[in-house]
Amino acid sequence: RITALTGTVAIVTGASSGIGEATARRLAEHGATVAVVARRKDRLDELVAAIEADGGTALAVEADITDRAQAQAAVATVVQSFGRLDILVNNAGLMLLGPVLGADIDEWDRMIAINQQGLLHMTHAALPHLLAAAKDDLRGVADIVNVSSIAGRQAWPSFGVYAMTKFGVLGFTEALRQEVTKQQVRVGVLEPGAVVTELVSHNSQEVRDGLDATDDIPVRLQPDDIADSIAYMVTRPSHSSIAELWAMPTSQA
Ligand code: NDP
Repeated sequence: RITALTGTVAIVTGASSGIGEATARRLAEHGATVAVVARRKDRLDELVAAIEADGGTALAVEADITDRAQAQAAVATVVQSFGRLDILVNNAGLMLLGPVLGADIDEWDRMIAINQQGLLHMTHAALPHLLAAAKDDLRGVADIVNVSSIAGRQAWPSFGVYAMTKFGVLGFTEALRQEVTKQQVRVGVLEPGAVVTELVSHNSQEVRDGLDATDDIPVRLQPDDIADSIAYMVTRPSHSSIAELWAMPTSQA
């Protein structure tokens, strides 16, 4: 067991699958108490049981963080339960692809709601607690990691609104970094390339067939690879801040 995060409390959103689940496990291995947030409570309960079987401490917090009140309540529950908050990983997200022409605008609204508004709700609720944790002498620093995407740096047809949400995360992250970094809250953005998760599964069969046809990524990253990147960002010494990390499969050009 690694102890870099012993005594800290972390929130990981979107921890019921994929990158969030792997990240929650990894932060717990580093000694953090981990609050796992998502809508699928059964999946969260399984994850908490697995983390605790492995000797860690975790709490399942069921919330739809597109709803501002639920996001605020999730943060409040964590702080009431554990008395502090050191790390927020804004990972929950949705990718619905397709042309702009004839698009179902509800799909756009759903992406903006989780990829941007959910992240903003959690950040706003968590920030006072992160600033407080950064002042005490446990680590002398606190962390926000925002999970953007390669689609927050590059855009392609059919990725329009998803790219818009992720490019936006980059701008917000850098503005917030400058706002709070001198108060020892590190704010960083992580931009993964292709990772094997459920992300694509929310698209229609037609969209998925189109991706399969154009895909040229023989070996994708696993969620654990991204968990490694996030763990790296939040375990730097307190004077060192990773403001941006672009993590790609070697086989993705
Ligand atoms: P998954 O679909 O496996 O995970 C998405 C997570 O977000 C789930 O845990 C889901 O939980 C949660 N979530 C969705 N909507 C809400 C909501 N309203 N409230 C709370 N939680 C919500 O995909 P990934 O693990 O791949 O995605 C994680 C992040 O990584 C996303 O931001 C994605 O954009 C980003 N990313 C992924 C890449 C990839 O190739 N997979 C590449 C680059 C970035 P639930 O449904 O239980 O609420």
